[in-house]
Amino acid sequence: MTESVRSFDVLVIGGGPAGITAATTVRRHGGRVALIDENVDAGGQVYRPLPASFPRSSKPTSEQRAGDRLRDALASSGADRFFEHKVWGVAPGFRVDAVGPHGAVALSAPRLIAATGTSERVIPFPGWTTPGVIGLAAATILLKAQRMLPGRSTLVAGCGPLLIAVAAGIVKGGGRVAAVVDVASRGEWLGRLPALVSRPDLLARGARWMSTLRAAGVPMLWRHAIREVRETASGLEAVVGPVDPDGAPRRGETCNFAVDSVTVGNGLTPASDVSRVLRAKHRYDLVKGGWVAETDGSGRTSVPGLYVVGDGAGIAGAAAAEHHGAVVSLAALHDLGRLDMTVARREAERLGAKLDRAARELKLLLDYDPENAGARTNYGLVLIQQGHRAEARGQLEEALRLDPGLTPAREALTAIRDQ
Ligand SMILES: Cc1cc2nc3c(=O)[nH]c(=O)nc-3n(C[C@H](O)[C@H](O)[C@H](O)COP(=O)(O)OP(=O)(O)OC[C@H]3O[C@@H](n4cnc5c(N)ncnc54)[C@H](O)[C@@H]3O)c2cc1C
Repeated sequence: MTESVRSFDVLVIGGGPAGITAATTVRRHGGRVALIDENVDAGGQVYRPLPASFPRSSKPTSEQRAGDRLRDALASSGADRFFEHKVWGVAPGFRVDAVGPHGAVALSAPRLIAATGTSERVIPFPGWTTPGVIGLAAATILLKAQRMLPGRSTLVAGCGPLLIAVAAGIVKGGGRVAAVVDVASRGEWLGRLPALVSRPDLLARGARWMSTLRAAGVPMLWRHAIREVRETASGLEAVVGPVDPDGAPRRGETCNFAVDSVTVGNGLTPASDVSRVLRAKHRYDLVKGGWVAETDGSGRTSVPGLYVVGDGAGIAGAAAAEHHGAVVSLAALHDLGRLDMTVARREAERLGAKLDRAARELKLLLDYDPENAGARTNYGLVLIQQGHRAEARGQLEEALRLDPGLTPAREALTAIRDQ
């Protein structure tokens, strides 16, 4: 049987903000591009669309509006879109194999952009595979894409900004949150908001999530973690106890929660499957969230023609992913001989200005609130992205002086000292 392989200039795997801007930028410069994503439409993790049969809200949130803007841009760009297609194979050269509702498809192009986002990290505990225990990411999919609650009464545990986002989403959806159990200390969660790197406005959203939880009387257990989850006749019983800054159990009183669901997650790690299968060089980078492909400033990996963008190149949040997708696709177009160097540089500089704006906004926030260790950490992370390592080091050291338990600042500092 002869198999037909459709050819393009560029293939993009992943339809989150990074993949969307990568594909639309290629189209804007006349390249033939195909975008493949396993979901029903584009949007990725953060801008996950509702199924078409669900009624649309007359008052869309800012997140829904941002997702619609990106989806419209992609739909009108002329990019070939393969939704509900799961990529199961990538081969050098490049060939991409995917399977969708009508069977298998094979696509090829001399340039491949991996925009596959993140995977969730869950640290196991006794009972973590009990039915009713799900990941925080799974809970956001239920809440966002299906408008469903994980249960009537849920314990939300782990670390990172998703914790507060999921708990607030459950309360807003009419569910009960038995408690939020955070490995971090009270001040640390702010420092963990990756999106703040590029969107300090999310600070306000974080504050709103917290006030939703406060208004609902949800108990917050800082520096605590789940010890065990057991099945009972009426649902689940979760045992929660105190931990040290590294998450190891420490002596102290434990408490039990009777719930019917537990959602748990311990942060996000870059999804590097594509670049690993293609044997690009990788390194472990604490600041970026784990194993990432080594890249130059324009997303080029050690495999010629292969680029990584967005959270797959290092967790930095949705706005940074959108910006990164555009910058990296300009490099791909330039390498293809489709874009003149001066035009590519001019566009990249324009996009770089967005990062500069984030740095300015964080700086302003710090002038107003100099003891904000979380914002100082984020300012340090932006400075690292801009290449100002010495200045970043000063900011991170100051953040640690203000809050010695601030893990993201400590990890970032260790990483830049090691490089
Ligand atoms: C559950 C969750 C909630 C989040 N909430 C927020 C938030 O509120 N605000 C914020 O700033 N950031 C949030 N983040 C982080 C944010 O999602 C990312 O920073 C942003 O979406 C990164 O964009 P991206 O384009 O790099 O990847 P993603 O948006 O993750 O997109 C990657 C896409 O690739 C697809 N894909 C991966 N592998 C394959 C394959 N083999 N075949 C087909 N398709 C594939 C995925 O389904 C996904 O659609 C959240 C992350 C998670 C996991």
